[in-house]
Amino acid sequence: MATAAATNPLRVVHTVCSHDCPDSCGVLVTVDASGRAIKVAGDPSHPVTQGFLCGKVAKYLDRVYAPERILYPLRRKNGVAKGALQRGHEHEAFERVSWDEALDAIAARLKAVADEFGPESILPYSYAGTIGVLGFGSMDRRFFHRLGASQLIRTICSEAGGVAWTLVYGKKIGMPTEDYRLARLIIAWGANIHGNNVHLWPMVEQARRNGARLIVIDPYRTRTAALADWHIAIRPGTDVALALGMMHVILNEGLEDREYIDRMTHGFAALAERVREYTPERVAAWTGMTAAEIEQLAREYATTQPAAIRMNYGVQRTENGGTAARTIAMLPALTGAWKHRGGGGQLSTSGGFKWNKVAVERPDLALASPLKRLARSVNMCALGEALDEKRSESRDQGSAGTEAQKTVEPSSEDIPVKALFVYNSNPAAVAPNQNAVRHGMARPDLFTVVHELFFTDTTDYADYILPATTFLEHTDVQGAYGHYFVQLSQKAIEPPGEARNNVWLFSQLAQRMGFTEPAFRENEMDLIHQAMGMDAEGRATVPDMEHITLDDLKAQGHIPLAFHSDPEQPFQPYLNGPLPTPSGKIEFSSEVLAAQGLDPLPAFHPAVESRFGELATRYPLEFLSRKADNYMNSTFANLDGHRKMESRTSQRLEIHPADAASRGIAEGDQVRVWNDRGVLKLQALFNASLPAGVVAGKLDWGKLSADGANVNALTSERLTDLGAGATFYSTLVEVGKAVENHP
Ligand code: SF4
Repeated sequence: MATAAATNPLRVVHTVCSHDCPDSCGVLVTVDASGRAIKVAGDPSHPVTQGFLCGKVAKYLDRVYAPERILYPLRRKNGVAKGALQRGHEHEAFERVSWDEALDAIAARLKAVADEFGPESILPYSYAGTIGVLGFGSMDRRFFHRLGASQLIRTICSEAGGVAWTLVYGKKIGMPTEDYRLARLIIAWGANIHGNNVHLWPMVEQARRNGARLIVIDPYRTRTAALADWHIAIRPGTDVALALGMMHVILNEGLEDREYIDRMTHGFAALAERVREYTPERVAAWTGMTAAEIEQLAREYATTQPAAIRMNYGVQRTENGGTAARTIAMLPALTGAWKHRGGGGQLSTSGGFKWNKVAVERPDLALASPLKRLARSVNMCALGEALDEKRSESRDQGSAGTEAQKTVEPSSEDIPVKALFVYNSNPAAVAPNQNAVRHGMARPDLFTVVHELFFTDTTDYADYILPATTFLEHTDVQGAYGHYFVQLSQKAIEPPGEARNNVWLFSQLAQRMGFTEPAFRENEMDLIHQAMGMDAEGRATVPDMEHITLDDLKAQGHIPLAFHSDPEQPFQPYLNGPLPTPSGKIEFSSEVLAAQGLDPLPAFHPAVESRFGELATRYPLEFLSRKADNYMNSTFANLDGHRKMESRTSQRLEIHPADAASRGIAEGDQVRVWNDRGVLKLQALFNASLPAGVVAGKLDWGKLSADGANVNALTSERLTDLGAGATFYSTLVEVGKAVENHP
């Protein structure tokens, strides 16, 4: 789609926003004759992007050309200890080196660590700093498989919900985003559409202009909640109870769709029996709603068609979050909402994109590693535990450097992490239990490499920092988890300084490690061909992309998946079966869970860290570690323009006036928020829309506070009930007025 005319020295290049957002916008970048990007704009021809960008990315050139960008490889200066660095002074701890020096030194150290402690003592740590297929996981995975490094279990964000949805439907797809405009009722369940799924919002508005109602279920009064017809400020982590209570009312009043249930579902009788115990009165006691509200919600949902649920991942970041997502996912199957175009629901559309990940990531290269097998796995939600120095010490005192050490069992949890390679992530800010993470990262014996755009909380602990690229500066191919369009992101500008992308970095490093496989000499276009299974004619062969050629993709920028490409045959994912579940049907009762000896039906078990657990006697307040509307997790938090948009709630603890009064706290007071894991110092901001007993703080960079702590100083490494995900929203704390000299 790049165009150039003799009379117009400007080029417009089609790129794709690769930030961790469902919308995956088509972004048109205007580049001047000098090669400088001068404008970014949403692609007007993209049916979901609709020609506009969110507030975060509309100012993207501030990020691309930020004076603070890291432009050259950096090495920690001799004698400078690892630890939080004052913002703006980070460069004082590092010195510039050439890429050759950096790559040689990193390769040598990784070799030495692998020789002494076994390759599994090397841990890659990455997530969705970029969600392009290549940027998220391609050459890096090849490299770490071949090396024999530990595998990272990447569950910090969406795995609980993904597992949950798949247990019910067998695949992770939902109704097309564009069809929300046809709904008569929209329930945004843990979904801040206006804040972070902003391209769905015009569909919601169009539906409302046609008479639809918007109900938001969220403990926090988000922008979306403030704009809703009805905001239900449910207590955190009680969504399972509410969904089961709705089912109770629906069945009690005969509002279910028997035709759809008989034809499309499995386990209905058992579910009907289970939900008998979830009376509105019982559910009211858990959720903080009244019984009448639960009845009203259930009736309205079951008697309005099309009714569409937009669930987002906040729902599943609690201890029972997998079951929450699973139970909510069952609701449209009970009412037959899937039968109606504009009805049903969506958690993610990512299952529609069947990239050939095996070809891109090459797990077979693990057989060429010293292990001759796939390495052990480490859960990214428990990084603090993985970096625990006690584990490291006990190993050091054991058989360091012996052959026995190199042949440890793959399941061994005792292998110390001696090298950490971070890219696409900022774990010192975003991983739970921040104090444990930072403590581990400060270990002098831990060798840490970070591939980044800016100095972050994590680079403060790096031995080497390598400059990374933005999505304007490399080529990639991308799907989405909020629509069904394949897009090619073309390199629009040369990377500034010596910034390099993931593919180049891991290819270079592999060659320095002596990995001779041709897989390490492939480039972006080779990898894109492999991801789409391109044949000799340049036509994709992976399912639902067979109609796509690379030339068409280059010319058009975006092309819908096959099942979403015929306007005469709108895509309704669960209109008919069979489905790829064990029963071939939508599973109310899970055959997969039953086979594991687990309860196959959903049930509400309050979180250990909730007002219903024993710990609440010591820490009685439920803490919501919120995401900012104008950041992407911790991305963008360093940019002044973005921070200004978040200034009202930055470094604030939002607290209900009643909870503040009982603690002698006045608005504007400095407060301490603490539990057994850490302490945060914030300023009290009253918020009467929070449920009593719930407080909220926002994810920010730790280095923006005096002591380097952010909300994750309080969050736990406990994992979700399904999918081993993070439980950011199951956190108990106590709050008190800050007293001078209090640590
Ligand atoms: S962050 Fe999301 S909404 Fe914003 S430009 Fe990127 S994909 Fe679009």
